Amino acid sequence: MGSLDQQKCGGYNAQFLQELSDEHECPVCKMALREPVLTLCGHRLCFSCSEEMKRRNNGVLFCPLDKTILNSGEIFPDKFTERIILQLNIKCDNFLKSCQWTGELKAINNHLTSCEYQEVKCLNEQCSTALLRKELSDHMEKHCIYRLVTCQYCKLKINFCDNQSHEEKCKWVPLCCINQCDMKVLRKEMSAHITDSCANTIVPCQYLKIGCTFKCLCSRYDDSK
Ligand SMILES: [Zn+2]
Ligand SMILES: [Zn+2]
Ligand SMILES: [Zn+2]
Ligand SMILES: [Zn+2]
Ligand SMILES: [Zn+2]
Ligand SMILES: [Zn+2]
Repeated sequence: MGSLDQQKCGGYNAQFLQELSDEHECPVCKMALREPVLTLCGHRLCFSCSEEMKRRNNGVLFCPLDKTILNSGEIFPDKFTERIILQLNIKCDNFLKSCQWTGELKAINNHLTSCEYQEVKCLNEQCSTALLRKELSDHMEKHCIYRLVTCQYCKLKINFCDNQSHEEKCKWVPLCCINQCDMKVLRKEMSAHITDSCANTIVPCQYLKIGCTFKCLCSRYDDSK
């Protein structure tokens, strides 16, 4: 890719609008010269390609075109050519994904920070989904399983994927009375409802004290009150 990343080895593999001329192409990597160095014999290669050649040849660098041995001090940074190459016009790295951007090579990194067709990671930390930047907001608002949703009962913010297990224990969910008295009772109030106010709770007869062992459906709200 044509990224300007300085750590990269080899030249710029960008989509140039005009065909790259020979003096702008590295004879080693066949890409556009990145940090070109000029040799004593008048040829150019990428700085990283010269380092790589040296490493492979036990520290000896020779010109890739005419095999001239180049001692240290016989290659020079070619700032002039570097400037020209950085001003060449290219397509966006994502042109195959239909980004229409074109601009100077030196502007590509800046463009990629906002390119709609650049692949990005979902901003929710737990989510590993990668997608095009233009799809990010839709993903995060509607599809990400880690998007925050509000519990409709307790209004707590929770991850969408935890919603079901949350609702299974959320204290504010209205439930049908487990004694089937037809009342809706919040989960957190169920046990109080059963002990204190459910019409279907079976309680000992109020005359238990005086010997009645009959158990009846609660009639605490009878006219007897
Ligand atoms: Zn190169
Ligand atoms: Zn040469
Ligand atoms: Zn783009
Ligand atoms: Zn996501
Ligand atoms: Zn809740
Ligand atoms: Zn009840």
